[in-house]
Amino acid sequence: QRLGGTATGPTVWSEFGRLAAEYSQSNNNFSNLGQGFPDWLPPEFAVQSLVSAALDTTSSSPHQYTRTAGHPNLVKQLAKRYSKHLDRQVDPMAEVAVTVGASQALYLCLQTLVRPGDEVILFEPFFDLYVNQIKLAGGIPVYVPLTFVPFNNNGRDGGDSGGRWILESNKLRDKISSTKTRAIILNSPHNPTGKVFTHSEMLDIAQIVTEVAGPQCVVLSDEVYKYIVHSPPIEVDSNTGKNDQEKTALQEGGGDSSINGSISSSSNTKRTTSSCPGHVHFASLPNMWERTLTISSAGKTFSATGWQVGWCIGPAHLISPIHQLLPYVQFCASTVIQEALARTLPRADEAYEGYASYYEYLNEKYRRKRDLLSKALQDVGFAVPDYDATPGWGGFFIFAQITEEVRRALPSHRLQMPHCANPAAPGGRARLDWALCQWMVEELGVLCIPSSPFFSKDRALEGASDEFIRVAFCKTDETIERAALSLRKLA
Ligand code: PMP
Ligand code: GLN
Repeated sequence: QRLGGTATGPTVWSEFGRLAAEYSQSNNNFSNLGQGFPDWLPPEFAVQSLVSAALDTTSSSPHQYTRTAGHPNLVKQLAKRYSKHLDRQVDPMAEVAVTVGASQALYLCLQTLVRPGDEVILFEPFFDLYVNQIKLAGGIPVYVPLTFVPFNNNGRDGGDSGGRWILESNKLRDKISSTKTRAIILNSPHNPTGKVFTHSEMLDIAQIVTEVAGPQCVVLSDEVYKYIVHSPPIEVDSNTGKNDQEKTALQEGGGDSSINGSISSSSNTKRTTSSCPGHVHFASLPNMWERTLTISSAGKTFSATGWQVGWCIGPAHLISPIHQLLPYVQFCASTVIQEALARTLPRADEAYEGYASYYEYLNEKYRRKRDLLSKALQDVGFAVPDYDATPGWGGFFIFAQITEEVRRALPSHRLQMPHCANPAAPGGRARLDWALCQWMVEELGVLCIPSSPFFSKDRALEGASDEFIRVAFCKTDETIERAALSLRKLA
């Protein structure tokens, strides 16, 4: 009942999961660039950790229940790592909670914070799970749109290629209520756009939380892609945290070639935090520890989305209600997987495949795959960010804009076919993003995710949310190259 009305229909994941199952059977050329899971094995050291954990027959057998708030070996590892990231001593027993994936961490955070009628701020577009989790807690989602800097002929004429998503802090300020805002969900690196929020944007959020929001307001910082920052943001003045160039770019409508001219994806950029390159932990900002719950999981980092171990880290007064709720949700997350992760984490810091650490290897791998896929999309007419020219990208999705050129390739009758899982299409017409994705999987054998599920209903009704498709590059080179060949039929 809390979800209300149409919110209980099939999700984009069930619908496109069904299409993936169907077309992987019927089409030998099928390429799944949809749901965000890598189609390769986790690194050998992670698999070995799992095997050794499973074969461990000492008294601390990992095959039975463990501590509800988190397996001791894992919470100790996590506390040690976050103590470094956040530059403070994190208490493994009181300030860490282990959950079934980041999804359950989010659920528990929202259930313990939100009371009916409380408002929760979301930056739009957003990972679709948030909306219904807020509603399940009785909360009201309040949307703050990120500003899209339009593509400028995809950079083909030189200058600013556009395609970035920017937080205008006054839009956040306007939506914050000193009495009603209970939480702000921040997701950086961001699903679906790939945006990495700049240090300056994060400082703006922190300032607004301090100045405008009431003391009850907590930031839920979803950092599941924190080890995938393939184009680090611009370094900022560490005293002021401000990056004036960015502000100028925004005031001038995004066109500041001086930023773009001076930044390349890996050079000229001082990495912000040594223990997690290119990523800013929101809880590490001044005065933010006390009002931040940091959420993450192992799935993206170790190419093991099925492991489903997640966690939240925060001050004891915010973690304690989660510890109290956990045993009523389930006794504990899988012990053997927690033990495997505890054994995996120290190994990931060591040299790997010629790189200083596994994390460096991972970023390089994703940078290459991103370039392979973005070129393939650009070649057939999609507008994609110019990753070399603009800083601040992470995660493993490209949010590609559907240009007039691509739209012309879509047979017009496809837009007359509204889809059952897409009930909110204005005026009974089919949404462009859904129609295109459906046609692409049927005719080209390439599955991508439509953009409208990542926007609010109001934005969808304005027709402003169906201009993009989300394309995953956490796929083998073989899959991406096969998709690139199939996509050529579009051109
Ligand atoms: N947050 C974001 C932004 C995501 O993309 C996902 C999808 N994996 C999750 C949370 C959920 O992560 P998990 O699989 O660990 O529950
Ligand atoms: N986070 C993944 C994605 O965005 C998985 C989504 C899901 O399973 N709900 O593709």
